[in-house]
Amino acid sequence: MPMKIGNELYRKTLLTVSGNPLVEKLTLRYGKSLARKFIASSDLEGALQEVKQLNAKGIMATLDHLGEGITGLEQAASYRNEYIRLIEGISKSGVNSNVSLKPTQMGLSLNKEVCYEHIRAVVREAKYHRNFVRIDMEDSPYTDATLEIVKKLHKEQLTNVGTVIQSYLFRTEQDVQDCIQQGISLRLVKGAYKEPASIAYQNAKDVLWQYKRIIQMHLDHNVYTAIASHDDKIIKWTKQYALEHEVPKDRFEFQMLYGLRMQEQAKLAEEGYRVRCYVPYGTMWYPYYTRRLAEKPANLMMVLKNMGR
Ligand SMILES: Cc1cc2nc3c(=O)[nH]c(=O)nc-3n(C[C@H](O)[C@H](O)[C@H](O)COP(=O)(O)OP(=O)(O)OC[C@H]3O[C@@H](n4cnc5c(N)ncnc54)[C@H](O)[C@@H]3O)c2cc1C
Repeated sequence: MPMKIGNELYRKTLLTVSGNPLVEKLTLRYGKSLARKFIASSDLEGALQEVKQLNAKGIMATLDHLGEGITGLEQAASYRNEYIRLIEGISKSGVNSNVSLKPTQMGLSLNKEVCYEHIRAVVREAKYHRNFVRIDMEDSPYTDATLEIVKKLHKEQLTNVGTVIQSYLFRTEQDVQDCIQQGISLRLVKGAYKEPASIAYQNAKDVLWQYKRIIQMHLDHNVYTAIASHDDKIIKWTKQYALEHEVPKDRFEFQMLYGLRMQEQAKLAEEGYRVRCYVPYGTMWYPYYTRRLAEKPANLMMVLKNMGR
């Protein structure tokens, strides 16, 4: 138990210091080579090659062109174009992958309407290619707006889009119920951001409890479920629950991040489970990378060791 409290403190501290400009400068200077462990490639062609190799092991993918928290709307337009190129690239190469994008990458913090139009363009392109778009969930100022975007797209018959629900938020159970009712596909996660105690569980035990609860809600409703976690407790629990309640293996999938537990991903695929790897590529790796460091002290230790070289 004391170890768990230590981990939570570590995570919060790292998410706080990662916003510090000096820490950012040091990480950009020393962390780049280690970031390659988590980032598939700096360009689309390299990322598609990586996905081919994953597919050969029976692992599906979701490709993420890195970028978030943009400062000008021209950047949002260029990310939209990059995603359209990505969807075409997936289609041409024939790899088994959908795409994941961040709403702030499409301009959510700058102009909601413009963001909606950009995401809509990407979802339409994906529909044309019979593909699917997952809108990642960012921190709580964007939760309502992200859910609104997905619901509005569904009302326009653009149903090849889904989003993500974070089990650390108190509001989560209601959001899951709403999305199930509206047929919106969800990826279920614990949550990667630093959120205040007024709106989110701060204790790993509570987050785990609510996580199991929302997985169960999905499986019980016979709704296709995407469980995105590296946590053995969650993976074992899901397998057992599915077995006991006769949920077939094609009704859910496990998702993990590129560079993490790759052997476990291959093993799950060999056991006949559906597995999807989240494959980020591009050059804007710093925010994504610091969230990965915050999740696992061992990753930070590797950076510190490399700083001396
Ligand atoms: C595919 C995917 C997409 C995601 N999308 C989002 C999103 O849109 N929004 C968002 O807020 N968050 C997202 N996340 C991040 C998520 O919210 C968590 O922050 C992250 O997954 C860490 O939680 P965890 O359940 O994986 O395990 P943790 O809570 O980090 O770890 C729990 C336990 O799992 C085991 N474990 C974890 N990592 C490893 C490892 N590398 N090797 C061995 N054992 C390990 C250990 O036993 C550890 O004690 C995503 C995660 C994944 C996998």
